[in-house]
Amino acid sequence: MKKAVGIDIGGTYIKAGLVDEKGNIIKKEQFPTLAEKGSRDIVLSQIEKSIEFAYEEDIEGIGIGTPGVVDDEGIVYEAPNLPEWHNLNLKKIFEEKFKKRVIVENDVNTIAWGEYLFGAGKGSKTMICITLGTGLGGGIVKDGKLLRGGKYSAVEIGHIPIDYKGPKCKCGNYGCIERFVGRDYIVERAIKGIQEGVKTKILDLVNGDLNKITPKIISDAYNLGDEFAKNIWIDVGICLGAMFSGLVNLLNPDIIVIGGGIAQAGKILFDTIEKTIKERSMKILTQNLKIVPAGLGVDSGIVSAGALIFQK
Ligand SMILES: [Zn+2]
Repeated sequence: MKKAVGIDIGGTYIKAGLVDEKGNIIKKEQFPTLAEKGSRDIVLSQIEKSIEFAYEEDIEGIGIGTPGVVDDEGIVYEAPNLPEWHNLNLKKIFEEKFKKRVIVENDVNTIAWGEYLFGAGKGSKTMICITLGTGLGGGIVKDGKLLRGGKYSAVEIGHIPIDYKGPKCKCGNYGCIERFVGRDYIVERAIKGIQEGVKTKILDLVNGDLNKITPKIISDAYNLGDEFAKNIWIDVGICLGAMFSGLVNLLNPDIIVIGGGIAQAGKILFDTIEKTIKERSMKILTQNLKIVPAGLGVDSGIVSAGALIFQK
């Protein structure tokens, strides 16, 4: 069976594994990224260490998922949370070191490819995949190929504007979807409501400490029958549904895969997204559309990075 090394670079940990062509992990380990040391070379040596851990002589190659925009030559242009991570040719650095094929891809594009090859999107024709957490990332697979831009990784779904008069986003635009459904913004809605005097179980769950509110707490409150928490999830679902309706009209996907920590909000979120998409997209384009949770578990970053090497 063919094997590949999968490396998932995160702000806190680098996850490494040896993955086979069916998506099984043969071995895995995580290494601290050491981004806080502020040195690119330290992070690079951590990545090298992680590759060495998973490396075997007969691998097909090394797949690397990294934050940031990546071009078709494997250069990472900008990665938030990683020091001096500008114009960095990761592909060249590690091809020279290990003398194996290296594929570098944006981390969420990587997850989308993994979900298509081994996860919830298996067998689909046109798949949109998002991960919903601190930010909103996305990737698209069309006709068995990961969709990329002209030269750059692109598919920055989180920065699709849904309100041209909306609040400023960190990317410089206004009213991006991420500005409404990213982790901190969901929490912000809860805090705002509470400060305006709304009665909610959220306040009891954090013993009155607003700094302790998380999306998980809002979900817990919803599960206790809290109306305010329910409305937060409905609003987040409508924002996402509105954004997806544009993508559905653009691409006519047969499946939308939703992963990331905030997807744990579950049925209320998924139902609202589906209802909104069906109300707002062109009807014929939603006929065969399925909306499902991501299928790869906690190791999806490793499996998906390895999967990059098994692209046709
Ligand atoms: Zn933005």
